[in-house]
Amino acid sequence: MSSKDLIKRARKFAAPFRVAKGGKFRLKDIDPGDTLHLQSEDKPRAKEVLAMGVELLSELQDMLYAQDRWAVLIILQAMDAAGKDGTIKHIMSGVNPQGCQVHSFKSPSPEELDHDYLWRCMKALPNKGNIGIFNRSYYEETLVVRVHKEYLANEKLPPELVTRNIWKERFQDIRNFERYLTRNGIVIRKFYLHISKEEQERRFMERIDNPEKNWKFSASDVKERQHWDEYMKAFEDMIRNTATKEAPWYVVPADNKWFTRLVVAAAIIDALASLGLHYPKVDDKKLEELAAAKKSMLGEKKKRSG
Ligand code: ATP
Ligand code: MG
Repeated sequence: MSSKDLIKRARKFAAPFRVAKGGKFRLKDIDPGDTLHLQSEDKPRAKEVLAMGVELLSELQDMLYAQDRWAVLIILQAMDAAGKDGTIKHIMSGVNPQGCQVHSFKSPSPEELDHDYLWRCMKALPNKGNIGIFNRSYYEETLVVRVHKEYLANEKLPPELVTRNIWKERFQDIRNFERYLTRNGIVIRKFYLHISKEEQERRFMERIDNPEKNWKFSASDVKERQHWDEYMKAFEDMIRNTATKEAPWYVVPADNKWFTRLVVAAAIIDALASLGLHYPKVDDKKLEELAAAKKSMLGEKKKRSG
């Protein structure tokens, strides 16, 4: 398949999962087990297509880096065990590490809590020519902080600024921030990996039963399941309020890892391909310089062999 065909297919494949206008978005319309028309017997073929996608991604990233104008910011949000880490690992497996930056956002440190919440994210934004991945992000400020209001108290905000409008205000600020980034050449694509509560339980069990996965298990993750419905409401509200044309959300079914990775790869390919990337063209002076360097090296070679 040619790159052009692959790009076309990627665009079509990712489109059903894109939310560019939040308005009436409802999470319950999305089935975490959805695999479009693909069945589990298509899995080997899906893996082949993913490998082709990863190769194409690497070619596009090479041009992104050479051109040094645009940056791409990929944001991943999800419940625990939805597959953020694995998705990053597989999709970025082919790209040049020099042009890629991954940042994982944990519970904020005292220094971070001493600043506004975008501070730490600003510092981690991708350089021009790079792909930056946020494994969790400032969206946690409308998710975990909303579900556990005690975290908000840690943020040392002046009390008169913490009103019942705080989430609405955060959404507004995030929309404005993302518009600002977009206007500065940072292309934003956001992914919510939508796993079902049952599949999350299966994956937690696997972490307990499989010695190689024991290290991934965290008792606090299991405790967080008690707040499942509150999280779902928070995710839904986040998508409704922050899905925009320039910074769309992709709501990706996440009960089948092979399918999740395919959708995320397709959406990133689509984003990169839409930038019309090309290698920088050199001017006449540079062309003369190249010709002169070649002539000189050929002369040396001739001397050596003669
Ligand atoms: P992950 O859970 O993303 O796979 P991890 O297990 O390596 O990564 P954790 O130590 O669990 O890392 O850190 C992630 C935790 O940090 C999550 O529970 C998340 O809710 C929390 N967190 C991230 N950002 C914030 C924030 N702004 N305020 C409070 N908690 C946050
Ligand atoms: Mg964790």
